[in-house]
Amino acid sequence: MTLEEKIGQMTLYTSHFDQTGPTVREGYKEDIRKGEVGAIFNAYGAEFNRELQKIAVEETRLGIPLLFGYDVIHGHKTIFPIPLGETASWNPDLMEKTARIAALEATAQGLHWTFAPMIDISRDPRWGRIAESGGEDTYLNTVVARAKVRGFQGDSLESEHTLLSTAKHFAAYGAAKAGRDYHTVDISDRTLREVYLPPFKAAVDEGAGSFMTAFNEIAGVPATASEYLFQDILRDEWGFDGFVVSDYTAINELMPHGVAADSAEAGKLAVKAGVDMDMQGAIYHRHLPELVEQGIVSEETINKSVRRILRYKFRLGLFENPYKYSDKKREEELVLNDDHLDLARKTARESLVLLKNENDLLPLDKSIPSLAVIGPLADNQRELIGSWSAAGDYTDAVTLIDGIKQVVSPQTEINYARGTGFDSSDRSGFAEAVEVANQSDAVIMALGEKANMSGEAASRSTIDLPGVQQDLIREVLKSGKPVVLVLMNGRPLDLTWEDENVPAILETWFAGTQAGLAIADVLFGNYNPSGKLPVTFPRSIGQVPIHYDMKNTGRPKSENKYTSKYLDIPNSPLYPFGYGLSYTTFEYSDIQLNASEITKSDSLEASINVTNTGDLKGKEIVQLYIRDLHASVTRPVKELKAFKQINLDPGETKEVNFTLAREDFEFYGLDMNQIVEPGKFKVFIGTNSEEVKEASFNVLE
Ligand code: BGC
Repeated sequence: MTLEEKIGQMTLYTSHFDQTGPTVREGYKEDIRKGEVGAIFNAYGAEFNRELQKIAVEETRLGIPLLFGYDVIHGHKTIFPIPLGETASWNPDLMEKTARIAALEATAQGLHWTFAPMIDISRDPRWGRIAESGGEDTYLNTVVARAKVRGFQGDSLESEHTLLSTAKHFAAYGAAKAGRDYHTVDISDRTLREVYLPPFKAAVDEGAGSFMTAFNEIAGVPATASEYLFQDILRDEWGFDGFVVSDYTAINELMPHGVAADSAEAGKLAVKAGVDMDMQGAIYHRHLPELVEQGIVSEETINKSVRRILRYKFRLGLFENPYKYSDKKREEELVLNDDHLDLARKTARESLVLLKNENDLLPLDKSIPSLAVIGPLADNQRELIGSWSAAGDYTDAVTLIDGIKQVVSPQTEINYARGTGFDSSDRSGFAEAVEVANQSDAVIMALGEKANMSGEAASRSTIDLPGVQQDLIREVLKSGKPVVLVLMNGRPLDLTWEDENVPAILETWFAGTQAGLAIADVLFGNYNPSGKLPVTFPRSIGQVPIHYDMKNTGRPKSENKYTSKYLDIPNSPLYPFGYGLSYTTFEYSDIQLNASEITKSDSLEASINVTNTGDLKGKEIVQLYIRDLHASVTRPVKELKAFKQINLDPGETKEVNFTLAREDFEFYGLDMNQIVEPGKFKVFIGTNSEEVKEASFNVLE
């Protein structure tokens, strides 16, 4: 290969289909023809991708096939709940299946490679990209990472259904200061390794083929120029043999970050850090030839990157059949087929979280004579598929009102009023909303955010219901009718007022193509809600950052004034991590441990009996946390280490067993090696991170 041909393999450009960043490069077809681009993103469709592939294979000197990438994040055409919502299912099996379906649809449309999973730990509700993540917890994101890589990549890379996955964004993008997108990150190496990196390690262990850099800096070093991240950790420590792609023009951004004086220097920094492919920046394309000629970058560095990329083109079988992913027939059979839609409905209902249900207002009776459905999200399709909905078409989505109509009795009269917009101050629809509430036996209010209020470049400084939506609730409550608040949003909201005033609240995130049906299933009892929050809902923005696995501090809160607390609100969140109600109730026995002392290399068995004490069949997600009470470095007050789902009939009891092993007790010691220290531990098992039973044990040398 000539130097230019090699550098071509390290170059990724977007087609004209979609724009997911600041710049678009004209003339990408010409670049392909010249052999100067090895991968294309934002291009899909069996025919279109075949046409582009043909140029690469038939018109370039070497005929190396293109790799087609795309943001297949939570579904391709069939859209599943946003990742934050899907994570609320705590169901790895579903997470894997939805990724598999996304892969089936995307690969039939010519795609080889997805820019997912996004496994950035996200603890700041102001940050819009929290919607795209698995929430605040390291262990839960590790479970997501594994399930998603397995689902996208399937059993064999050679299959024409394999979508190569990308673990992104490496690293710590979610720790942006003040929740402002792309902002500075300054965290300790301990926090980086303990909190932010484990899901990425899990992705490597599961065989993820690529990694994407993050836009942010960490403690002065932009991730896209970090040898520490890409060489020392990813390749040397973890043994990753895939390739690294920059985020969208992230190499160019080394200039405004202030570590590169010009674009050539930016290219040098990135390639030396181990970034193999330049997404859309044209920096490698423009500058790597001269950097090699001048001896600033060695040809061996280029060769290494090219090998990593070509290895995956080989592994995907593209050299044997470059067109195997572009199959019109498969595309027609697979996209949005009934099985996929069924899975979308099932996943959506498992992702809904019941936040409040005073006096068992829910489920509503399917034969209720009349129902008011009020709010900007009641009859809305556009928002349901959420941000990063890729090739998804919102016109395929089932609205809440349509979903309700399909689930309730044909005799039920449905009275609709929009009431207000999302972020407008328009109250002119309030009167109509109150009128329809007055005419009805119960009211469902569908309120929340627009889809584009979360996602990339969509940070908010407040996390209230936008616009005058809360005032609309106030007015409608005056009707005295039972009100159910159905929320759609891409982040935790401040629901303190709503929690005090509205009898029932259902968090539905953005639930995807089948959203309306899934929500109706829960509202009318076809499905007993089982979702649990993957992220803490604060009482107010002033508590942020707030997450369940905080440290104790030297002055944990007490009656004494001089302890760690606020004057005006409690330290506790409104709804804790892991929280979610059911239409039935579960009772937990005490915890049984098989030993009160174990050695560092032993494992510990913990078990608990859970009984369904209500009248309905239900699913419970039983959560296990631990705490290391004294260690050479401070440890969180709780850390999730395991969870299990159980289904229980009314009156039924099941024993739930967990095994904890050495790795569950490990942490980074003073010298930053992973160790287990002898001493006292607590284990907690319960229905959320706050309501738990506890037991103690000792770890001996
Ligand atoms: C985002 C990435 C995404 C890429 C390509 C960027 O702006 O940060 O997550 O994969 O665009 O669309």
